[in-house]
Amino acid sequence: MKIVVIGGVAAGASAATKARRVNENAEIIILEKGPYVSFANCGLPYYVGGDIKKKDNLLLVTPELFKKRFRIEVRLHHEVVAIDAKEKTITVQSPENSYKEQYDKLIIATGAEPVKPSLPGIDLPQVFTVSTVPDAESIVEHLAAGAQSAVVVGGGFIGLETAEALLQKGVNTTLIQRSQQLAKNFDVEFSRPLERHLQELGCKLVFGQSLSKIIGEEKVEAVELTDGRQLPTDLVIMAVGVRPRVQLAQIAGLQIGQSGGILVNAAMQTSDPFIYAAGDVVESLHLVSGRKVRIPLAGSANKQGRVAGANAAGGKLLFKGVLGTAIIKVGKLTIARTGLSEKEAQEAGKDYFVSYSPLNSHASYYPGAQGMIIKLVAENFTGRLLGAQIIGSLGVDKRIDVLATAIYAGLSVFDLENLDLAYAPPYGAAKDPVIMSGMIAANIVRGEIKQVTPQQLEELKKQAGIVVLDVRAREEFAKEAIEGAVNIPVDELRSRYEEIDPEKTILIYCRSGYRSYLASRFLQQKGYKVFNVSGGFLAYKMDVQVKK
Ligand code: FAD
Repeated sequence: MKIVVIGGVAAGASAATKARRVNENAEIIILEKGPYVSFANCGLPYYVGGDIKKKDNLLLVTPELFKKRFRIEVRLHHEVVAIDAKEKTITVQSPENSYKEQYDKLIIATGAEPVKPSLPGIDLPQVFTVSTVPDAESIVEHLAAGAQSAVVVGGGFIGLETAEALLQKGVNTTLIQRSQQLAKNFDVEFSRPLERHLQELGCKLVFGQSLSKIIGEEKVEAVELTDGRQLPTDLVIMAVGVRPRVQLAQIAGLQIGQSGGILVNAAMQTSDPFIYAAGDVVESLHLVSGRKVRIPLAGSANKQGRVAGANAAGGKLLFKGVLGTAIIKVGKLTIARTGLSEKEAQEAGKDYFVSYSPLNSHASYYPGAQGMIIKLVAENFTGRLLGAQIIGSLGVDKRIDVLATAIYAGLSVFDLENLDLAYAPPYGAAKDPVIMSGMIAANIVRGEIKQVTPQQLEELKKQAGIVVLDVRAREEFAKEAIEGAVNIPVDELRSRYEEIDPEKTILIYCRSGYRSYLASRFLQQKGYKVFNVSGGFLAYKMDVQVKK
């Protein structure tokens, strides 16, 4: 049997090596158009920023090792330009010639290519995408040669990570985002702390603009924004998204899915049973929304490649789907998500509620605890967990992974209340943030507490018959408070509650939602109509403490 793999990075390398483990007798060839296989795209920003010092550290498996350890032949600089599915052949363009190669099973792992809009000046040598090792090497060389300023276009994961890397190198960095929100696959409120932190790091932010042209004759001198403003710069980094490389699949007559990726079944088989596909080039089933989505991430690419490789070689593995679990570090902040955001839950027509929980990364009495805000999206009535987003500076990674596992297992917020998680003061809390966020959300489903979100508060407080009650201490209230709020500290509420008009609806908040929860329970039992502001003042401001 001859298995040919097109593309030799995350999905392709996983597919080829798994195929070998399943079938010792198969002939396995990887065709890669670039100069490297099995390189760590995810590490590129850290190479630019200097955290990864040597380029070689980005090269995970070399062609020599593929040969020696796996008996897999790697052909670099070999681009597949056509597939004839009927004849089971591909046409390959090598540096020397064009030739045909026969296959028994073909695996398409061509990934996604960075979008480079056609703009005047886009081909100047100081305009980059961050996609390959040569891209990163080139940026590093320009920095070493004295480039001092950069414009990063796009505030998604790659744009944010690259901006961070440039700031770390002392580059005068401006990030341009077409919309009003960074990290658009999060709910909008998660953009605010990111913006504040990037500004603290010295990044200039421009929202609501894109590039109309890049100015310069032989080298970049400036960019012009759509509003006509010109920003002088030495480098331009384009990070405006990726699109799946489906051209070969189209030539082969394979079915392309609604989302624009190659359509595959759970065995990673395309509409042609002899052709498999995996990674950024395919579309996947979203395990919560049930929709077909394209979420280009390394975890899925590796797992899908493994399944495709196994099955092409005669095995029987299935890839169930994705949750879009992702995490990114920007300076000292980490944001992470899994499942559906609120926006996505809305679009998917889910009957959901959200809750915000500002919590500490570990027991507050143990040194170094840092704040985080967990936003859960869960189904009304059943409490089934649909999604989670977290922002913080410590311990975000493990919480998002617990929540991703919970969503995968179909758990509800009631299950979160009961999780048995590891605890010692340096690591967590006796009621871990995941458990606490579950308790807070479960109280809502049980009807123990009624809540409004900070966004709903903004709308409601304009209406007649509403009192916004701040139950924090006087000093906290004096420092900063929600406009129009009245202050009765929680410890004075039992003696002063009659100051509040019982005809009014009360929206109660404190710093994080705990004292207001106590106040809500008290006032409810006194017959007041009360709503707790989810996540309190911290969630209202999306204020996340960043360690110094
Ligand atoms: P790729 O890794 O894109 O590999 C496809 C390969 O196919 C390429 O080498 C290409 O040259 C080759 N190819 C294409 N067409 C042909 C052809 N016709 N003939 C021969 N070869 C061809 N994901 C995360 O989960 N976490 C992260 O932190 C993260 N950070 C990232 C940072 C950066 C800067 C980038 C660029 C991506 C990051 N990703 C991250 C995404 C992740 O790298 C991708 O999801 C993953 O690499 C996809 O793997 P793939 O094998 O499908 O495609």
